[in-house]
Amino acid sequence: MTKTIVAKRLPIDPGPAAWKQILPKQKRYPELNDNINTDWLIIGGGFAGLSAAKRICELTQDKVTLIEASEIASGPAGRNSGFMIDLPHELGSGSYQDTIERDKLHVKLNRYALDFALKASKEYEMPKEAADPVGRINSYVNKSGKNHNQEYSKHLDQLGEKYKDLSASNMKEVTGSDFYSGGLFLPGCLMLQPALYISKLAEGISNQYQSNFKLFENTPALEFQNNVNDWIVKTPKATIHTNKIIMAVNGHAESFGFYKRRLMHVFTYASMTRCLTDEEQKTLKGHKSWGITPSDPMGSTLRRITGIGGDRILIRNRWTFDPKMEVPIDRVKKFGNDQDESFKKRFPMIKDVNMEYRWGGRLCLSLNSVPAFGEVEKNIYSACCQNGIGTAKGTLAGIGAADLAAGINSEIVKDMQTYDQPKKLPPEPLSTIGARTVIKWREFKAKAEL
Ligand SMILES: Cc1cc2nc3c(=O)[nH]c(=O)nc-3n(C[C@H](O)[C@H](O)[C@H](O)COP(=O)(O)OP(=O)(O)OC[C@H]3O[C@@H](n4cnc5c(N)ncnc54)[C@H](O)[C@@H]3O)c2cc1C
Repeated sequence: MTKTIVAKRLPIDPGPAAWKQILPKQKRYPELNDNINTDWLIIGGGFAGLSAAKRICELTQDKVTLIEASEIASGPAGRNSGFMIDLPHELGSGSYQDTIERDKLHVKLNRYALDFALKASKEYEMPKEAADPVGRINSYVNKSGKNHNQEYSKHLDQLGEKYKDLSASNMKEVTGSDFYSGGLFLPGCLMLQPALYISKLAEGISNQYQSNFKLFENTPALEFQNNVNDWIVKTPKATIHTNKIIMAVNGHAESFGFYKRRLMHVFTYASMTRCLTDEEQKTLKGHKSWGITPSDPMGSTLRRITGIGGDRILIRNRWTFDPKMEVPIDRVKKFGNDQDESFKKRFPMIKDVNMEYRWGGRLCLSLNSVPAFGEVEKNIYSACCQNGIGTAKGTLAGIGAADLAAGINSEIVKDMQTYDQPKKLPPEPLSTIGARTVIKWREFKAKAEL
């Protein structure tokens, strides 16, 4: 029986992908205008899609095609904060050996993803800032944040992980700001210039595998239809016959009707300053490059960056629950005011530096924090739902989906297959009211770190 799966929605990204805007023009790829046959079709050119592409090209000499609805690095992959985190955000209680063993396994798998990114950055001769293993600081500003960090460090001791306690004056030395009371330096985090990493990864794969890998931008998948032995995928101007599909579209899996009412679509927002002048940098002091996560994940994430795009500061905060996967553009502006406030609180000495870019971006979570992974229809494999930490988890999901589809029972596949399905959400309007209330409450509790 013929089955047709239609995309109900296509991605809409609010505001510019600043990380991409500050780069010199990167390689662009054609739109698909002619009908083609391929062995593998990857839908989505973010962390999951490109990692899957690299893995398949390493494993086989099959024809591999990747289609991206927008441009490479314009979607969430080029608009995130660039923390590729090795440690889980929340560690288990630590009182049970199996929890510790599971945390250890996840750290090991996350590090596999970080290693994949580092190796790719070397192999494709990316500039150092594309993927820099310089660590991050988990900061705090009050007693509850300090307690959280202390609890976290106790678990790290049990896992045998290294960290360093930073005092308020250490924090000032790094950031130039009096705002922070202290922090935990976590050395294993890989800091990305996400648009640079993703663009160079796409370019590297395209050059290395030019005989069998093709990438098309501005080519959304609109519909899948099963044929006798393959799938037919329609795009606006062409038709693709493919044996296997890897769906690497994160929350947009639900737009194709997969994981219906099991995925939570949230947006978070960010602003990036114009380039700081030499004078402003002298006034600010501190190091030229650092990354700070808040002890409460609802607080503000900050980066100071230096490199191809100049010396700048980025602030990300605020969350919204948007099951339609679209947000009004004036919300980006409204939350931009919060980012301005957060900037002024931390950097009163350069408070007049204005933001050059403001944007929002999509994330996909599940109620039980599990991925949407596996074969969802014959020869369609999902590498979706990265639960907000998709630089590492998306990389793993992409490699894992490629392994699964190629029949390789790798450690990633084994781990991915231990998870339950994403849990069903409560019916509407309960789930939207519930999710928005939880976000408001949690943002209120994290106010000091905004
Ligand atoms: C402001 C912000 C800050 C963040 N900070 C961090 C961070 O510091 N660290 C971290 O780990 N994560 C962070 N994230 C989350 C991270 O960006 C995502 O988890 C990650 O991008 C998910 O990777 P992915 O490859 O699964 O999906 P995506 O990066 O979303 O890629 C999926 C791609 O699929 C494409 N697509 C969708 N539908 C179709 C279709 N029908 N046809 C063709 N293509 C389609 C989209 O255009 C998109 O490019 C942040 C996100 C935001 C918005």
